[in-house]
Amino acid sequence: MKVPFFRPSITEDEIDEVVATLRSGWLTTGPRTKDFEAAFARYVGAKHAIALNSCTAALHLALDAVGVGRGDAVLVPTMTFAATAEVVRYFDATPVMVDCDARTLCIDVEAARATVLALRTGRPVAGLRPPYGPLRAIIPMHYGGQMVDVAGVRALAAEFGLAVIDDAAHTLPAFYREHARATWRAAGTCADITCFSFYANKCITTGEGGMVVTDDDERAARMRLMSLHGLSKDAWKRFTAEGSWYYEIAAPGFKYNLTDIASAIGLHQLRRADELWRARRMLVAQYREALAGLPGLELPEELPDRQHSWHLFAVRLDLDVWRSGRNAFIDGLKQRGIGASVHWMPLHLHPYYRETYGLGPGLFPVAEAAWPRLVSLPLFPGMLTEDVRAVADAIRGMEVALGSRNH
Ligand SMILES: *Cc1c(COP(=O)(O)O)cnc(C)c1O
Repeated sequence: MKVPFFRPSITEDEIDEVVATLRSGWLTTGPRTKDFEAAFARYVGAKHAIALNSCTAALHLALDAVGVGRGDAVLVPTMTFAATAEVVRYFDATPVMVDCDARTLCIDVEAARATVLALRTGRPVAGLRPPYGPLRAIIPMHYGGQMVDVAGVRALAAEFGLAVIDDAAHTLPAFYREHARATWRAAGTCADITCFSFYANKCITTGEGGMVVTDDDERAARMRLMSLHGLSKDAWKRFTAEGSWYYEIAAPGFKYNLTDIASAIGLHQLRRADELWRARRMLVAQYREALAGLPGLELPEELPDRQHSWHLFAVRLDLDVWRSGRNAFIDGLKQRGIGASVHWMPLHLHPYYRETYGLGPGLFPVAEAAWPRLVSLPLFPGMLTEDVRAVADAIRGMEVALGSRNH
C-alpha cells in the first residue's frame, strides 16, 4: 500500500508509558486508568468519565443507566455502525431506525420527530410491531466527526421525555453551537450520556477502548458499578495496599473495565488530541485543494456552526460521472496502492435487521441514496502532503479507466 486507509499515530511517549506500566507490576485497571479518566473528564468538560474497554460497552452501560428494558423502543440512525443499534438488542428492546440528513448524514431530526409522532398516535412505524414498550432514548451519532443538530435533538428529547445518548465514536474533539453568537459546546457536553471510542482508527486510540461521560452523579455511579461485575465501590483496588479484599455484588454487571496498559497509551494520546486534530484539519484543507477540479466528487461540507473532528473524509461520488460505480472506484484505488473504506451500508439493509424487523430497501431514501456513492478516503495524522497528492493522482488516473466523462 502506498497510502493505507489509516495508520495510528504512536510516539515514543506512548511506548515508554506502556513499558513503564508493564514494569510497574500493575497491568489492569489502576492508577493510570484513574489518571486517564480524570484527564478525559477535564478535556471534554464533563463531571464524570469512566474508562471502558470499548465504545460499544459505553453505549450498553448508558442504555442500562437510563433504564432501557425489554420491549422498549430506542431511536437510532440507520446510517451508523453496527454497535449503535446492537446495544439496544442487548436489552431485547427495539432499535427504531430513522433516516439521515442529506448534508451531514447524521440522524434527521425532523424524520425522528415524524417517527415519534407516528408512534404516539399508533400509526405504523417501520420495524416496530405492536405491542411495544415506551420510547426511552435517542442515540444520535456524529457522522465522520461532524456533530448532529444538537439543539434539534435536545428539543425533541425534551418534548417527548427521551434520554439522549451520544454515540461520539468519531468526535474527539468536535464542537457545536446553536448560532453564531452562542458559545461552542464540545462533544461530551451535549447529551445526557456521551460514549467515545478509542478503537485503533479513531481520533485517539488505546488499541481497543472507550469512555463514557456524564454530569449525572447517579447514572455515573450505576455505570461504574455495572462496568465491573456489579461489585461494590472501588473493587478494582482490592489487591492494593489501600484496598480491601471484601466486596459485595450489588447487581449482575459486566466485564468492561479498561486496563492500565491501554490507559498508558490513552494518557499520551489525549495529551496529543489537539495536535492530532490540527494535523487532520490541515490534511483536509490539502485534500480540498488537491481534489478541486476532479469531476464527480462531492466533498464533505463543514457547516458554519460546527467544528468537525475530521475522523473521516467521506466523499460522495456522482454516479453519472463514475459510471462503473463506487465498488469499482475503490478497487481502482486499491490497484493504485490507495486504501479506502465505506461508512456505511445503512443498518436497515443488513440481513439481521431485514429478517428480524421486516426492514429493507425503500424505507429510508436519503441513506439509501447516499450509501452507494460513499467512499472514505485515507485520513490520519501521520499522512504527508505527498500522500494526499498520491490519492488525488490515483483518482485522476482512474477518470478514464472507469468511464468518467471524456474531456
Ligand atoms: C467505532 C464505532 C463504534 C464502536 O466503537 P468500539 O470502541 O469499537 O466499540 C460505535 N459507533 C460508531 C459510530 C463507530 O464508528
